[in-house]
Amino acid sequence: MSRIPAIDPDGCIACEVCTQICPEVFRMGDGEEEHGHDHSHDEKATVYNPTGAPEEKIEEAMDNCPSACIYWE
Ligand code: SF4
Repeated sequence: MSRIPAIDPDGCIACEVCTQICPEVFRMGDGEEEHGHDHSHDEKATVYNPTGAPEEKIEEAMDNCPSACIYWE
């Protein structure tokens, strides 16, 4: 079983590092696009595909997250 990464949204400063290191797993925004086009503020990173990349790569994103808010669930 692979481990599942998660992001603490309170710690995320939306620097996009994780999405650059591991775009298969992380992306900016919560994927909710039903509220119109108001994507103006406060976009946090989210895990949209927890098993999209090898653990080592996810761990690299964790190690490089400046606020260390990515963790194993
Ligand atoms: S690397 Fe950390 S702080 Fe930066 S966007 Fe990802 S979860 Fe947020």
